Amino acid sequence: MDSKIYLSKPNFKEILINTSFKDNNVLNFEVALEKYLGSNKKIVALNSGTSAIHLALILAGVQKDDLVICQSFTFVATANPILYQRAKPIFIDSEIEKWSMCPLLLEQTIKKYISLNKKPKAIIVNCNYGMPSKIETIISIAKFYDIKLIEDAASGLGASYKDQKCGTFGDFGIISFNENKILTTFGGGALICKSEEDKNRAIYLASQAKEKFDYYQHSEIGYNYKMDKLSASVGLSELKNIEQYILSRRKIHLFYVELFQNMEGIHVFHNSDDNYFSNHWLTCILINEKLAGFSNEDMSNQLLKDNIESRPLWKPMHLQPVFKGCPFYGDGVSEGLFNSGLCLPSGSNLTENDLERISTSIKKIL
Ligand SMILES: *Cc1c(COP(=O)(O)O)cnc(C)c1O
Repeated sequence: MDSKIYLSKPNFKEILINTSFKDNNVLNFEVALEKYLGSNKKIVALNSGTSAIHLALILAGVQKDDLVICQSFTFVATANPILYQRAKPIFIDSEIEKWSMCPLLLEQTIKKYISLNKKPKAIIVNCNYGMPSKIETIISIAKFYDIKLIEDAASGLGASYKDQKCGTFGDFGIISFNENKILTTFGGGALICKSEEDKNRAIYLASQAKEKFDYYQHSEIGYNYKMDKLSASVGLSELKNIEQYILSRRKIHLFYVELFQNMEGIHVFHNSDDNYFSNHWLTCILINEKLAGFSNEDMSNQLLKDNIESRPLWKPMHLQPVFKGCPFYGDGVSEGLFNSGLCLPSGSNLTENDLERISTSIKKIL
């Protein structure tokens, strides 16, 4: 049988061969990221994107019983840290264009809770599969109601809105360097802050909240969240390739756009507006079963038979057992995405031959 084609898998050996390991690379990686992201942001390199979200919530002042508004259509790592803080998530549905938090529902929900005298403490919005969110409208809502905004750009490294990089819009932003992301350290993340003050507090919390004494003194709960120097070395070397990685993913995206061009009932999730620059981390499609004559599950099964990995879109948080009972405001958009969508192999090292196999496999279903 042909070797397996994965959704998004880096070349472990090649990356390590190209890595130059140095003692002070955590700092070097932070500086390189600050330069890459621009907008005078301060970066803290951490051991995961999830830790970055957790610290962002703490820095935003989220405490026990506070309300946090969160996009329902996301990976669970966006929402879990709300529970780490013993705060309460309120989930909001997506809009249909960029699949990000619906600004209308967001504003209605904020108004409702303010009228109940329970103003939410923070909002977490995310990039979907590398696509910028409707960030401009969301920022203006967050500013108007004076609520802290956290931008989960875990998969959005290199994506931008009106030439400003994703992750740099909110009061805090986060990026993930998980193994399957566009740039990997085989496990890692970054917190993006506005001020040196926030950065220093994040480093302190991420280092067990050890105070500045020769002995070990701690007055607050701390965490072991800092990035290690091996991961940082990998990240620093890999950052040199980021433009190449984005180019490859965008090329693969175009391959799918062409492949599905004349197939009825298939919508490729794409940029409909030049202001939104997606890194196309994963190319996603929606299948209208009635028009296409087959479902997302049928396609996934066919691909699997040909040893090709695919994955359903995120199952929304308001449908997850772990968040049972949490309030949700929506109109079925994210549930529809989950029911009809599929993520297709999009790794930057897919070969021409891999794409040929994918094309052949998909054509079998028709
Ligand atoms: C990958 C991902 C995360 C989590 O990042 P980790 O580095 O794996 O902790 C968070 N949110 C979204 C949307 C992601 O895709």
